[in-house]
Amino acid sequence: MTARKQILVTGGAGYIGSHMVLALLDAGETPVVLDNLSTGTRLAVPADVPFYEGDCGDPSLVESIIRERDIDTIIHFAASIVVPVSVADPLAYYENNTVKSRSLIERAVRAGVSTFIFSSTAAVYGNPESVPVREDSLTSPINPYGRSKLMTEWMLSDTAHARPLKYFALRYFNVAGADPAGRSGQSSPDATHLIKVAVQAATGKRSGMDVFGTDYPTPDGSCVRDYVHVSDLAQAHLDALRHLRGGGESAVSNIGYGHGFSVLEVIEAVKKESGVDFEVRLKDRRSGDPAVLVASNERAQSLLKWTPRYDSLPVIIRDALAWERKLSERLSAGRT
Ligand code: UDP
Repeated sequence: MTARKQILVTGGAGYIGSHMVLALLDAGETPVVLDNLSTGTRLAVPADVPFYEGDCGDPSLVESIIRERDIDTIIHFAASIVVPVSVADPLAYYENNTVKSRSLIERAVRAGVSTFIFSSTAAVYGNPESVPVREDSLTSPINPYGRSKLMTEWMLSDTAHARPLKYFALRYFNVAGADPAGRSGQSSPDATHLIKVAVQAATGKRSGMDVFGTDYPTPDGSCVRDYVHVSDLAQAHLDALRHLRGGGESAVSNIGYGHGFSVLEVIEAVKKESGVDFEVRLKDRRSGDPAVLVASNERAQSLLKWTPRYDSLPVIIRDALAWERKLSERLSAGRT
């Protein structure tokens, strides 16, 4: 019997990547992690999972991992993900997200990797013409982050036409929460994403928080987003893998629940779930933010048979809070 082919997870020590590694292990797959630990942490990867510290844009390292581990699938998470930073430093985003992805895809093709799953983003739509936004909507990103990811989608699509590589790009809406079993979560102290920031405020790690913009054309003036539980997101990648392995075509799909919450609603929900009334400061808009982003998830349900299990804002917040409290315990025990 030949050994089961292994799956390379770039960015597997990061927030979403570490949940993917757990989901792969739970599904009986064999993940291998490549991460440069720029934002991820070694602790996020189970000790028995092969781990390579390095860059997904390093061609010789990637080539040797593919050969050494007999990789036939790459799930590519390693990226920079903060919209306002991409506005301030676009070339860093094009380098880290676009240029390095090009190198990774090239190595994959040369080494005969058959399957590539890509972590894309709802930011490729920019300010969508209508919501819920469908995959065939115009892609017109309004920030370098979205453009850096859309270019990678294009590279994959063009490559899949020319070479024997199949790909699936998942356009994530707003990913939040933590492993319900408490094995992983969002660990970066410098995270900027709304729910993480709010649970840090609720657990006293920051003194209150800011709301960026209350004059958007939305019911309460703050931005509306479709928050998706990280474990449901990881499951979508397993579904995409099954789809491609079963002979399915390369495709793109949104991953979101199809309904949104405003920034102010999210903050209220975090206060309710935590029982802590932290300070909230109303500020000006942050650059690069569209007013409303909500997914149509018809394609994920029909093509991938994606069946979310945690479609509940209180559950997402509960899991995020539980993880934040665990991080506090680790910190006071001196383990980071
Ligand atoms: N946001 C906020 N305060 C924060 C962090 C985020 O008001 O401390 C807002 C942000 O302006 C956006 C929404 O929350 O309208 C979601 O932002 P996030 O950075 O979580 O994700 P993005 O949608 O940019 O990927």
